[in-house]
Amino acid sequence: MERTLSIIKPDGVKKNIIGEIIKRFEDNNIKIIAMKKIQLTKTQAQGFYAVHKERPFFDSLTSFMTSGPIVVMILKGENVIAENRKLMGATNFKEAEQGTIRRDFATDIEKNVVHGSDAPETALFEIGYFFNAMEIVG
Ligand code: ATP
Ligand code: MG
Repeated sequence: MERTLSIIKPDGVKKNIIGEIIKRFEDNNIKIIAMKKIQLTKTQAQGFYAVHKERPFFDSLTSFMTSGPIVVMILKGENVIAENRKLMGATNFKEAEQGTIRRDFATDIEKNVVHGSDAPETALFEIGYFFNAMEIVG
């Protein structure tokens, strides 16, 4: 069993599709073992996306991520890091496959509704960034 971090980004929360996204996880036999709604500060968003700090879109991305509440979750399941990435679809929604979350709901390469860890090491870092052991059940 694997764990991954999922975020419903501010655009997803504003669109009222928290339930729709969680339903897709549950329909695919993915369990939610921790969840909370928070609003990031700029510093917290910069820390989370530190790997992208040299990218031209870093400032815009970290501002977007602080623009409203987000929902952070730990997902658990077999091969869930890759499974979640498959359900999310490509970063650019125009290249995302039919039926993926980003293809169905994203409007912009930046405002792409969800985040998902991309490897076991990033999942470990990202889970620890948001949750302590007491907040994880299952
Ligand atoms: P995430 O890390 O959010 O799950 P990802 O792994 O598909 O998405 P990354 O390359 O890690 O994509 O980029 C992180 C985020 O930065 C993207 O999800 C998107 O919001 C934003 N982003 C990526 N590329 C661009 C770009 N060319 N222009 C603007 N924003 C971008
Ligand atoms: Mg990424």
